[in-house]
Amino acid sequence: MSTHLLHRAIHGHLPTAVGGKGIELFDAEGNVYIDASGGAAVSCLGHGHPAVIDALHKQLDRLAYAHTGFFTTEPAEQLADLLVRNAPAGLDHVYLVSGGSEAVEAAIKMARQYFVETNQPRRRHIIARRQSYHGNTLGALAAGGNEWRRTQFQPLLINTHHIDPCFAYRMQQVGESDEVYAARAAQQLEDKILELGADEVIAFIAEPVVGATAGAVPSVGDYFKRIREICDRYGVLLILDEVMCGMGRTGTLHACEQDGIAPDLMTVAKGLGGGYQPVGAVLLSGKIFDAFANGSGFFQHGHTYMGHPMAAAAGLAVQQTIERESLLANVVAMGNELERQLVERLGNDRHVGDIRGRGLFRGIELVADRATKQPFDPALKLHARIKKEALKRGLIVYPMGGTIDGVQGDHVLLAPPFIVDRNDVERIVERLADAIKAGIDGIQ
Ligand code: PLP
Repeated sequence: MSTHLLHRAIHGHLPTAVGGKGIELFDAEGNVYIDASGGAAVSCLGHGHPAVIDALHKQLDRLAYAHTGFFTTEPAEQLADLLVRNAPAGLDHVYLVSGGSEAVEAAIKMARQYFVETNQPRRRHIIARRQSYHGNTLGALAAGGNEWRRTQFQPLLINTHHIDPCFAYRMQQVGESDEVYAARAAQQLEDKILELGADEVIAFIAEPVVGATAGAVPSVGDYFKRIREICDRYGVLLILDEVMCGMGRTGTLHACEQDGIAPDLMTVAKGLGGGYQPVGAVLLSGKIFDAFANGSGFFQHGHTYMGHPMAAAAGLAVQQTIERESLLANVVAMGNELERQLVERLGNDRHVGDIRGRGLFRGIELVADRATKQPFDPALKLHARIKKEALKRGLIVYPMGGTIDGVQGDHVLLAPPFIVDRNDVERIVERLADAIKAGIDGIQ
């Protein structure tokens, strides 16, 4: 075992993953795990899908790399066409990158350049939400609202401003309707824009269903419709970060379809390539593209590996497979089944505060006291215990600690591959319930 590999050296013991088939991953010691979180909501087709492997072999035989400054390639063109064909209204161009953080960085820079091109250089503020994760590069980290990740890098972060998320379980008042709460939560955006100066804000960025920081938190009521209206009222661009919740994870190809809105810029990654290659993308509206095309004539950005043919071939094969096998219908059906079984098995547990999410993107928030929603003491690291107990039982889930200002409890995120069946869901829920019980027993 190498101790030179940083993440390995820091984690200490880590099993060596040596193979995978369908929803299962295998380690070098012969252990078999159900990958019920697709890593971090990545492996949407599961492991070893023959159609994707075949497409990658063929692409590798033809061409592994060509620089986008000199050439275009067939897989990149085809992937862009596929993404635009299925995109929310108005998003008609695609910028291919290598992952989620790169996509967010590019989207933020596109938003800023749009205002430079259209003679509004005073616009310089980004607004985001406290309960959010947008990536770990400096621009994306600045946008994210996770204090734990941000604190030590604070002096290096660009000017971003944070409002509250739309988080019904913790922030909706007793007796308050969804509509009233949605309006109250969205109003924070308008207030913040007016505070900063209506002509000084570049963009608002949000995850339609919050992933890593919160455990699959969708908005309620017409929150995002109101957000869209507020952005339009002040000429602020709306960036939706669908890196985790997008590409079918919630049952529609894009999560924002269920909110009935389209953004000006959208970031996708993770499920785009399903883990077969590192790939991400920004989808941008014609308005932004036109500003570049009629202005300076280019987007001032670029990465050596953008539009990589192998990455594009993976994205294309994964997305074509999802279409060919009508897997979104399975995401809806098995998502409902997963929710049903989670509620049946854990709904009355005194430490399960909330079960939430959409499609095959579900979160469970754990609390010390269900009546008061009091979280467990963060020092107990319940989430880490649950992760360990789940691994012992051959289950990969994605647990995280509480974040928003210390008031949110530990949560577990489930994001199984789109190919799961009822029996798989049963095994996942069974093992998860045992792991949660063992994790909580360990601290009491
Ligand atoms: N945006 C969201 C919503 C994410 O969940 C993540 C990763 O978890 C990112 C951006 C960053 O993506 P990556 O880790 O591929 O850089």
